[in-house]
Amino acid sequence: MIRNMILIIIIILLILLGLIVWQSKKNKEAKINFNQSKQITNKAMPQNEKLKLNNLELIVVFDNNEFDQRLQTGWGFSCYIKTQQSDWLFDTGADGQVLLSNMRKLKLEPQSVKHLFLSHIHNDHVGGVNDFLTKNSNVNVYLPGIFPEDFKNQIKEITPEVLQITDFKALTDNFYSSGVLGTEPKEQALVIETKQGLVVLTGCAHPGIVEILETVKNQFDQPILLVLGGFHLDSAGLEKTKNIVQAFKDLNVKYAAPCHCSGEITQRLFEEEYKENYIEIGAGKSIRLADLK
Ligand SMILES: [Zn+2]
Ligand SMILES: [Zn+2]
Repeated sequence: MIRNMILIIIIILLILLGLIVWQSKKNKEAKINFNQSKQITNKAMPQNEKLKLNNLELIVVFDNNEFDQRLQTGWGFSCYIKTQQSDWLFDTGADGQVLLSNMRKLKLEPQSVKHLFLSHIHNDHVGGVNDFLTKNSNVNVYLPGIFPEDFKNQIKEITPEVLQITDFKALTDNFYSSGVLGTEPKEQALVIETKQGLVVLTGCAHPGIVEILETVKNQFDQPILLVLGGFHLDSAGLEKTKNIVQAFKDLNVKYAAPCHCSGEITQRLFEEEYKENYIEIGAGKSIRLADLK
């Protein structure tokens, strides 16, 4: 009797042990499948299925060209970028007080900015950084890694979120750095991926505006919708500037918005060629994605 009982208990124990081993194996397999499917989802997500921007507004808050009479002008460039996800500031102009005053007049809050992108070290682009960070230190800063150490340390003291850029890089969803290009002064351009194509913002375009656009073209299989910023052609001469306008056409750039250091002649040549797709820029000018058909 006792022998039978022991036998039954052993059998029950063996069955239980078998069940436990079987269940743990099943769990393991399920885990592997989950990880694999996670990898596949990440990998297989095609570019065009990513949530692309369909709501974007670019507001020039600092420029040497006049547009909105209420705003102050000054040598330099800065552009406020509004999206459905978060707000960016591209460069800060030469003077922080002018920048903040212009933003105030346009009802743009420094505290709403989540990302600050600095194109290159020239003062007419980074001169307003300290004043801006005093108003909002809770930002991610993207700057060329070759910036002077004392400049970088100064920023790191205010905000630890500093990303030093070298090569082409995805910064957040839909926002990219062209990588730090050219020789002295090296510069990065900001590329925004929208539903209608790429928007490229340049500070001074010291590496060459066409060279920047060719670099961008090599990274994306998408048309360039708009190029906005300084094209650095102030003293380039008529022939060179004409060639650059032609290069824009060859690269199928849809809208051109040269300002800051582009020069009056450049603006007129682009206007002649681009007609209604030329955008006159000055402090206070705003461009909505919906306006770019
Ligand atoms: Zn400049
Ligand atoms: Zn410059």
